[in-house]
Amino acid sequence: MKVLLVFAHPEPRSFNGALRDVAVAELSARGHEVQVSDLYAAGWKPAVDRADFPGLDGDRPLQPSRASKQAFLAGELTPDVTAEQEKLRWADLLILQFPLWWFTMPAILKGWVDRVFSYGFAYGVGEHSDKRWGDRYGEGTLAGKRAMLIVTAGGWPEHYSARGINGPIDDLLFPINHGILHYPGYEVLPPFVAYKVDLLGEAAFGAAASALRQRLAALETTPPIAYRQQNGGDYLVPTMELKPGLAPPTANGFALHVGAAARELG
Ligand code: FAD
Repeated sequence: MKVLLVFAHPEPRSFNGALRDVAVAELSARGHEVQVSDLYAAGWKPAVDRADFPGLDGDRPLQPSRASKQAFLAGELTPDVTAEQEKLRWADLLILQFPLWWFTMPAILKGWVDRVFSYGFAYGVGEHSDKRWGDRYGEGTLAGKRAMLIVTAGGWPEHYSARGINGPIDDLLFPINHGILHYPGYEVLPPFVAYKVDLLGEAAFGAAASALRQRLAALETTPPIAYRQQNGGDYLVPTMELKPGLAPPTANGFALHVGAAARELG
């Protein structure tokens, strides 16, 4: 399997850095080909601005989505973006690894998504009409590939449980897993999350490393999260609401879009 690991931590000697080395070593030992995009080490430019669209007429206001479409179609995206898109086309598995910062990914990684997941590549793909909202949520450029998060958190697992103060971890990661990864087509594996990292630190590293090795050993057999496909018949067109009957009328929220969980609600 070809694996792209996108790494977003400023310090190579960090807990995250050590966990990344474990992941790369384990994947390589199992015969997988691995590429790493180390965003801080590469000095990744995180902000979308005019410099991303060299073909844009200087007098025109910048409309990021329209400019992204034109640059993609004209083959004028910047070399750093096209290099990442090539890696994504190459990889069978995408891993995003990051420390949880303010309940989401660090800004540099969000900036990688904002720039690399361009119009025509990750969104704006397929027919957009009154009958179809394009190829997305299970279809699109990256369909047939898998993706997975490796996340570290300062909080306890209980803080991220169903009744925990921070909210359930699957809810917090839903915008990344569903909105960023499933959207352009990926099947998304359950995330690997290491908790209490600041508190336990060195004492817990061995256990986290061993749990991660086990997860990576089971990549081929781990079922993805059962997100519904947009064009699989579960949604009304063109409103894209879940069809009545697939969950109780009072049910709402992210869990509706996980097939198995929604059936359980019924
Ligand atoms: P490090 O700081 O590198 O290390 C943590 C501990 O592990 C230290 O005790 C260190 O001694 C030990 N260690 C480091 N390297 C190694 C190694 N190679 N081998 C063994 N042990 C090692 N947490 C939340 O839960 N929710 C949040 O919303 C949240 N928001 C945050 C926002 C910001 C801006 C910041 C800075 C932190 C936030 N945190 C949050 C905490 C954050 O998630 C953790 O600090 C982070 O996950 C720890 O990972 P690290 O790689 O930075 O650890």
